[in-house]
Amino acid sequence: MEFSILADAFYKMESTRKRLELTQYLVELFEKTPEDIISKIVYLLQGKLRPDFEGIELGVAEKLAIRSISKSSGIPVKRIEEEYRESGDLGHAASTILEQKTQTTFLVEDITIERVYETLFKIANLEGSHSQDMKMKYISSLLNDATPLEASYILKILLGTLRLGIAENTVMDALAITFSGNKDNRKILQHAYNVSSDLGKVAETIATKGLEGVEKFEIILFNPIRPMLADRVKSEKEAIEKMGNEFAAEYKLDGERVQLHIEGEKVVLFSRSLENISSYYPDIIEKIPKVIQGDNIILEAEIVAINENTGEFLPFQELMHRRRKYKIEKAVTKYPITVNFFDILYHNGRSCLELRYKERREKLEKNITENEFVKYIPMCIVRNENEITEFMENSINAGSEGLMLKMLDKPYQAGSRGSHWLKLKREYQNELGDSLDLVVIGGYFGKGRRTGNYGTLLLATYDEDDDEFTSICKVGTGFSDEDLDQLFQILHPKVTIKKNPRINSEMEADVWFEPELVIEVVASDITLSPIHKAARDKIRKDTGLALRFPKFTGKIRVEKAAEDASTNEEVITLFKGQTKVAHDKNLM
Ligand code: AMP
Repeated sequence: MEFSILADAFYKMESTRKRLELTQYLVELFEKTPEDIISKIVYLLQGKLRPDFEGIELGVAEKLAIRSISKSSGIPVKRIEEEYRESGDLGHAASTILEQKTQTTFLVEDITIERVYETLFKIANLEGSHSQDMKMKYISSLLNDATPLEASYILKILLGTLRLGIAENTVMDALAITFSGNKDNRKILQHAYNVSSDLGKVAETIATKGLEGVEKFEIILFNPIRPMLADRVKSEKEAIEKMGNEFAAEYKLDGERVQLHIEGEKVVLFSRSLENISSYYPDIIEKIPKVIQGDNIILEAEIVAINENTGEFLPFQELMHRRRKYKIEKAVTKYPITVNFFDILYHNGRSCLELRYKERREKLEKNITENEFVKYIPMCIVRNENEITEFMENSINAGSEGLMLKMLDKPYQAGSRGSHWLKLKREYQNELGDSLDLVVIGGYFGKGRRTGNYGTLLLATYDEDDDEFTSICKVGTGFSDEDLDQLFQILHPKVTIKKNPRINSEMEADVWFEPELVIEVVASDITLSPIHKAARDKIRKDTGLALRFPKFTGKIRVEKAAEDASTNEEVITLFKGQTKVAHDKNLM
């Protein structure tokens, strides 16, 4: 298939932010796509070559790209740099330059999607001393045969700046329409995606085997399963109302969630956002196979940092010391951990997702042997408010954040946040009753002590209905100098020229970021807001919700994806709870 078809589709998609239009463009594209390359197209649409959990990075630096453009066009590096400075986007710059140039050059051969994909794949896998030269050779050979528009998209993919703002749900809508004629079949695709985290594979399956094939989709060992999430409740009373009169309560430990895939001695660890984090925890890789019964297994646990002398749980932040590329052995001894299991998702070639909680917990305890390093998360069956309070106290005293409450007879719902799991946290210091995890969407340069950093950040909630990020507040307090430095390091590479179409905000910002990083904030209360877009029109027409006096808690939630941030639904619940408290107080 010709790459020009994909480049045209990219061009159309870049110029809209309307989900329906995007879906339509995708349907038109998928209709033209042969089934053997549909997975590749789905990855390319997201600016990737393979699903995220495989960790394949193109890693081409701007300098190298500029040299490659120069090599293929014969235009001096300086001139390309000038154009780049003017347009702010190397893809655009290259297309402008080549536009002038092609008037005098012949195109040698049409480039195909297969060729572009394969070349990009080779580039991603190059290592070693000659890799830079080889990369340049590959890139300039592609650019040689590309039209200006094609060249601009090849460069954007290479540099990681292709930002079409297409959400996974939109891709699945379009796949359902193209291959089954009905958007509602998205649900079936969603299940396959939830158990495989591989949208390309889902696309290939529906294209080659139809909906029936997708329905039969099974868990694949070493492909992460999208995690089940919990709703929040604010009190024991609310928990009983929602969960009935008998359910499980587990400690909610403050660590890093991990999904362990194990077969024999092979262990792979995935974070909550499905990144392969195996290299940070060589101690887990070594010790876990010894305590497992079974040929293969997928488990979920919370990794928690501990004080080696007292055995006490330490806060999540301690684990950050493990996130390093070098000298990990030292960090392993200096920052000891325990692995606290709470679920089993697969065992001996069989999915456990359909099993009820009770059965999964039994299976978990049967197939793992506890020791100093490996524990089951403490669990107790509770039947009334007092029993919850008592277990909550034990949990807080042990250094955890609160409780996770789980219905006894429900299956594991991969990839969804529902009422079968609830979280009950204790955070006395915070007037709202809970902290919020918000997505950083914009930044403002700091003054004085904060010069050179982003002094204030613009934050957003996740809107599940429209699959976008809605602004809710600016936050400028709670940051230590160290936090500001660290945030700058993380955020700077996420700066975009154009606001990502999934950001819904009318605020001005000095810079816009890719909506990726999640941070935790507390606030005094939630107010109605004419400017912010969170929960717009939900409480009052033309009005959204905003946080009053927000403050950064110091927690950068690297383990969370943007879609795991607090949702507008949650903010509405907090807002309503708060008005109810005010109302009750007035009555007293
Ligand atoms: P939150 O980050 O506040 O949305 O809470 C959900 C997180 O709590 C999960 O992603 C886990 O990392 C963590 N967690 C701690 N203990 C448990 C538990 N017993 N069951 C499930 N998740 C837990």
